[in-house]
Amino acid sequence: MKMDQNNSKSRFNDIIDAAPSATAIYHTREIIITAANEQMLAFWGKDASVIGKPLIEAVPELSGQPFFALLQKVYDTGVTHHAERDGAELLIDGKLQTSYFNYTYKAILDSNGKTEAIIHSAINVTPLVKAQQELSETQERLSLALQSAEIGTWELAPISEEVYWDQRCRELFGFEGKADIVYHQVLDCIFPEDKQMVIDAVAAAVDPKRLANYDVRYRTLGNASGKIRWVHCKGRAYLNAQGIAYRFAGTVRDITKEVNTSLSEQQMLSLVNYNADVMSIADMQGHLIYMNHAGRKLLGVAEGVDVTTMTARDFYEPEELKRVQETIIPQIDNERGWTGTLYLKHSQTHEAIPCQVNYILVKNPITGEIIGRGATARDLRPELKAKEKLAQAMKELEFLANSVPTVVWTATSEGMIDFVNEQWNEHSAVTIKDALGAGWTTQVHPDDLEKTLIIWKNSLATGLPYQAEFRLKDKHERYRWWLVRAVALKDNNHNILKWYGSNTDITEQKELQRQKDDFLGIASHELKTPVTSIKAYAQIVEMMLKRSGDDKNLELIHKMNNQINRLTNLIADLLDVTKINTGKLAFKPSIFDFDQLVAEVADEIQVTSEQHKIEKKLNSNSLVDLDRDRLSQVISNLITNAIKYSPDAKKIIIQTEVSFNEVQFSVQDFGIGIASDKQEKIFEQFYRVSNTNEYAFPGLGLGLYISVEIIKQMNGRIWVNSEPDQGASFGFALPLANGNQKF
Ligand code: ADP
Repeated sequence: MKMDQNNSKSRFNDIIDAAPSATAIYHTREIIITAANEQMLAFWGKDASVIGKPLIEAVPELSGQPFFALLQKVYDTGVTHHAERDGAELLIDGKLQTSYFNYTYKAILDSNGKTEAIIHSAINVTPLVKAQQELSETQERLSLALQSAEIGTWELAPISEEVYWDQRCRELFGFEGKADIVYHQVLDCIFPEDKQMVIDAVAAAVDPKRLANYDVRYRTLGNASGKIRWVHCKGRAYLNAQGIAYRFAGTVRDITKEVNTSLSEQQMLSLVNYNADVMSIADMQGHLIYMNHAGRKLLGVAEGVDVTTMTARDFYEPEELKRVQETIIPQIDNERGWTGTLYLKHSQTHEAIPCQVNYILVKNPITGEIIGRGATARDLRPELKAKEKLAQAMKELEFLANSVPTVVWTATSEGMIDFVNEQWNEHSAVTIKDALGAGWTTQVHPDDLEKTLIIWKNSLATGLPYQAEFRLKDKHERYRWWLVRAVALKDNNHNILKWYGSNTDITEQKELQRQKDDFLGIASHELKTPVTSIKAYAQIVEMMLKRSGDDKNLELIHKMNNQINRLTNLIADLLDVTKINTGKLAFKPSIFDFDQLVAEVADEIQVTSEQHKIEKKLNSNSLVDLDRDRLSQVISNLITNAIKYSPDAKKIIIQTEVSFNEVQFSVQDFGIGIASDKQEKIFEQFYRVSNTNEYAFPGLGLGLYISVEIIKQMNGRIWVNSEPDQGASFGFALPLANGNQKF
């Protein structure tokens, strides 16, 4: 048996020695080394003398490590133990070093199922483990690098369509969490317009016949944020032995910022490029770096010409260049730059072009160091031309203004005089300069000033045409009368831009008017006395003839009396006009029944008018507090006119009524009527409609004028409604006596 044992031992030894891997055999629970081949001895760093010794004695450094206990467990249980890449501290070259092993403790069982021996086989995998450690370290470093470069990595299995994404990738595509992802989910994260392009690029990259380089830029929709990101993906496909792409992997980088800045840079550049102003940049030595389209156009540099071959000398005449270099450049302020005008030179024609130029310093955005100068320039020629034209036009206008005999002027919308032509000097005690603004008011006659300013201010406020008559002091310190008119120039929104005015000397007219008034006053006064006497004599003669029964001559005297009455009325009218003109028309108000007065006047006229029937519709039932005689004069005037100017009619209608606290009178005739353009004029002094038959309708044209003045003085209104050949309706309205309606 022992022999057998020895035999089997030596057989074992032979096997072990021949085994390709490190092998040892242990017996008993003390784990006595009964055999160990060269490789195993080498792992332990021992020689063959350890055979026959318990393992723990032979390799003492193993105490404290788990192997001994493991072996005993295998011995006790008979269950094989296998481990991979397990580290063991072993003395190698006198130094404790970690080695890694794949090893097996296999129990050899006897017929009773008890452990007879343990076979220990081991492979040193230290270099493999070390290499793997190094690899994973390298990978870690790589992913760190990728992370810090904000680069994500991805991998697609084209066959299963499974996608591996790192955290960064998920972020960029807007995926949260760690759930598995498949290819079509990725596609769903791509901006719709870019999707097909990506699909095509992936297909081309994984197509084994093409294996196209995958390098695409596209937009992703960040799922959660809804933010659009630009990404740049690069990758390549790997083929397996069958020539099918089994792996497609690469990187992704967020290029949103770059895209956006390059977009805004491009926008800026095109803004600069196509700006209407000239823009250029030069280095500190004056060498051009850039010039935009406007610059090329203005200075005659063709689009194809490389501006970097040009210098300041090409764009300035020598003296101007000297001024720029010696005076202007040192003045360019760090913040504000330099602005001023100077002449640029056309590079082809050498024309000197006046320009408004702005220089700024161009700095390196990071270091702040000044690296060049930027210039913007605006061609001033159109402006200068326009100014010249305007000045010329102004000159011509002034010339024109000075050539007219009247005084003309302009004023601001606020009413300040800002131009007066030279004619002013001939008439005024003060110079044009002193008349400007509100200076002219000092020259207005004190009696006229208040009224004038009221009219002027009213026009300034309303924009309505201004017209006033007032006296201004002339250069001999005498007052002359002026008719001053002005109209406002307005913009489309009716805002006043300027007033244009003229002054016309009406001193002579005023004088003539005064002379005429004086004459009228004297003449009518002088005529009145003899006419009164004639009338008295006529009455005596009438009485005498009546008594003698001389009917034939009595008839003549009647006619004479009528004519004397007409003459008396005419003289009375003339006298009234002179009174009106001198403001001496007197009023003696009293309270009386309005309808009653109208009836009296009408009845009186009816007596002498046989042809016309005066129809009365008197419904005012009112008391008025007015001058009775003057009012009867007006009523009489209107009724008489109605009869006079309707020679073919048989009636006229007179009417009174109360409306809105006013008493109204109107007289309607069916006569010749009045054209609408004449209807205002008939109320003027001495105005008569010219084509009316003067023989058929005698008169002086004073009746309506006097009537208007009387009604105005009574705070009333007077009007006419008429159409030619349709008759006329004249009317007036007057205030009622205070609370004095009769019934
Ligand atoms: P006169 O009657 O003396 O001419 P008025 O001042 O009374 O002066 O009238 C002025 C002018 O108005 C008249 O000349 C006439 O042309 C016109 N007129 C006045 N009343 C009427 C009327 N009822 N119908 C037509 N025209 C009239």
